Amino acid sequence: MKNKYDYIIVGAGVAAATVARGLLLDKHDTSILILEAGPEIKAKDRRFWWDYITRRERPYTYTYDQKWEADSSGNIEYQTDGVRVKAYGGSTMHWGAWSLRFKPEDFNLHTNTGLGADWPMNYEDLESYYNDAESFLSVCGDESENWVPRSKPYPVPPFQWTAADGEMIKAWEQLDVVYQDGDINPGKSSKIRSGKMPVARYRKCMTTGTCKYCPIGGRFNAQYVLDDLKNDPRFINFEVRINTPVHHVNVSSKSKIESVTFTDNLNGKQHTVAGETVILASGAYNVPKLLRASKNEFWKDGIGNDFDLVGRFVVSHSMLNVVGKAKANPNGWFQEYDFPTLMSHSYNTKEHQKKGKIFMFKNRTTPNTDIAQLMIDGKTREEIDAIVYGEMEVNLQAFLEEKGKFSNRLEARSGVDRFGLPQTTVHFSRTDEEMANAKDRLQLLEEIILKMGLEITSSRVDKPGGHHTTGTARMGTSPENSVTDKFMRVHDTDNLYVCSNAAFPTGSAVNPTLTLTALAFRLVEHLTNASKTTETSKKKQWEYQL
Ligand SMILES: Cc1cc2nc3c(=O)[nH]c(=O)nc-3n(C[C@H](O)[C@H](O)[C@H](O)COP(=O)(O)OP(=O)(O)OC[C@H]3O[C@@H](n4cnc5c(N)ncnc54)[C@H](O)[C@@H]3O)c2cc1C
Ligand code: SF4
Repeated sequence: MKNKYDYIIVGAGVAAATVARGLLLDKHDTSILILEAGPEIKAKDRRFWWDYITRRERPYTYTYDQKWEADSSGNIEYQTDGVRVKAYGGSTMHWGAWSLRFKPEDFNLHTNTGLGADWPMNYEDLESYYNDAESFLSVCGDESENWVPRSKPYPVPPFQWTAADGEMIKAWEQLDVVYQDGDINPGKSSKIRSGKMPVARYRKCMTTGTCKYCPIGGRFNAQYVLDDLKNDPRFINFEVRINTPVHHVNVSSKSKIESVTFTDNLNGKQHTVAGETVILASGAYNVPKLLRASKNEFWKDGIGNDFDLVGRFVVSHSMLNVVGKAKANPNGWFQEYDFPTLMSHSYNTKEHQKKGKIFMFKNRTTPNTDIAQLMIDGKTREEIDAIVYGEMEVNLQAFLEEKGKFSNRLEARSGVDRFGLPQTTVHFSRTDEEMANAKDRLQLLEEIILKMGLEITSSRVDKPGGHHTTGTARMGTSPENSVTDKFMRVHDTDNLYVCSNAAFPTGSAVNPTLTLTALAFRLVEHLTNASKTTETSKKKQWEYQL
C-alpha cells in the first residue's frame, strides 16, 4: 500500500467499480485504492452454485445485516436484516439486475406535487449517461415501448414474455388507467400497456434461471469489473483491499479532505492513508454514518452535516402485493426465469405522482411451480404433474414511490457489526395519508387480479426496507437544503464526493442502480474533465467489455 493515492474509494460495489473503471480508462496510471469492509466471496464457483441449487444456500448470506445489528423505530418496521450484501461487489452479488431509467417527472417531484424534493438537474442532463450505463451493464430491453425519451437503443434485445405472462397481459388490455381525483388530469383514461423488463444480462446469459447465484457470470456483478481492472496490466496503480472498514474521513481544513482511517480486520491494525480525492461509494446506509462519524474542529456534527441533513429523508419503496388463486392450471404455466419478464409503467406517470406512482410487475416466482426443486425433493412424475396442473397462484407486485420526509432518518447506533461497521437504526414512519394512498394503489392491482378471473387470497402493503434505500445524503442546490451539490461533491468541501443512492433526492417508482451508474459516469466525466465525445467513450467501453 502506498501512503497517498490520487483517489480513495470507500466501498467496492457497482458505484465504486464504475468510477474506478472510468478513471483508469481515462488515465491508465491513475492511483486508486478501494477499501471494502466485507470479504470476497467467489463468483462463478460451481460448488457454490451446486449448493444453491440443491440446498437453497447462497454463499453471501452471512454478510447480510443480522437482526441484532440493525433496528428501526417509528410506526412501521424498516427491514434491514437479510438485505444488503457487504462484500467485494456489494449488493450486485445478489441483485435482480432490473435496470430502469427514472422518468423525466422524477427529477421535478417537488415542483409537480409540493412534496419531496427536486433534483438539481433534469432528465435531459442525465440522458446520455443513461446510454453509457446501459452499455456498461449490458441492459436488454425494448426501446420501441417508448416509456421514456431515449437517444440510443438498448445494447441488447429484450427477453420475451413467458407463456405465463399472457393472461395478465390480456387483463391489462381490458383495463383502463383512469386518472383520479387529485391527479393532474382527472377523468382522462388510457389502456394499461405491457412492457418487457429491462435486465442487466452481462455477457452470455444462458437463461438457466438461478440468478441469485449465477454459475457463468451472466448477470452483471461489480465483482467482475473489479477483477478485470485488477488483472489488467495497464492499471499498475490500482489496488483493492478487502476486510478494511473505513471509520473516519480526516480533514486539514473545512474544505480539504486529507485522508481516511481504516482497520485491517485480518490483524486489527489501524491505518491512515491520504487521497487527493475521496469518494464515498459505501451505500446509502454507510455514507451518512461515515459522514456523521467524521467529526472534527471544522465539522462539529460530522462532515456535510452543518444543517443536520445527513441521514435524513430516507426513502425506500413501499412494495405492494396482490396474490390471486385459480383452482387449476390446465396449461401447466410457470415463470420460466428467475426474473420478471412482464412489467408496466402505465401508473408510473406524472399524473399519478401526487398520490404515488407505481411500477407494476408480475412476481418472478409465480405461477408457483419449481419443477427442479420438486425433482430434488424426490417427488414422482405423477406427484409433480398434480402440482403443475393443480392450484395456481399469481402474484402482481408494484413499487410505490415514497416522498422523503425530514423526520425519517438513518443513523449509527452504538456497537459495530461483524465487519467493524457501525450498527444501524432507522427512524421511519408512514403518515395516515401515505397509508391511505398505498391502499388506494393496491386497489389498482386488485382490479387486475380480479379481471384475470382469480380469487384474491392476499392484498398487502409490505414494510419498507433497505433494498432501495435512497436520499440519506441528498444532492441539491445549497448546504441548507442538501448534503452534496449536483456533482455529488459534499457542499463546502473541495475533494469529497458521494457516489451512492444516498445522493438521490427522490427514489422514483423504479429500482435505483441504473440511475446510480449513470451518475457515476457523470462523476467520472466531472473528475477527469474529459470532453465527452461519445465516439471515443463508447469505443473505450466496448473495447474493454468484450
Ligand atoms: C435483494 C436486492 C435486490 C436488488 N435488486 C435490484 C435490481 O434488480 N435493480 C436495481 O437497480 N437495484 C437493485 N437493488 C439495489 C442495488 O443492489 C443497489 O442499488 C446497488 O447495489 C448499490 O450499489 P453501491 O455500489 O452504491 O453500494 P453497495 O452495493 O451497497 O456496496 C457498498 C459496499 O461498501 C461497503 N462499505 C460500506 N461501508 C463501508 C466502510 N465504512 N468502509 C469500507 N467499506 C464499506 C459495503 O460492505 C458494500 O460492499 C437490489 C438490492 C437488494 C438488496
Ligand atoms: S438466467 Fe442468466 S443470469 Fe440467471 S443464472 Fe442463468 S445464466 Fe446466470
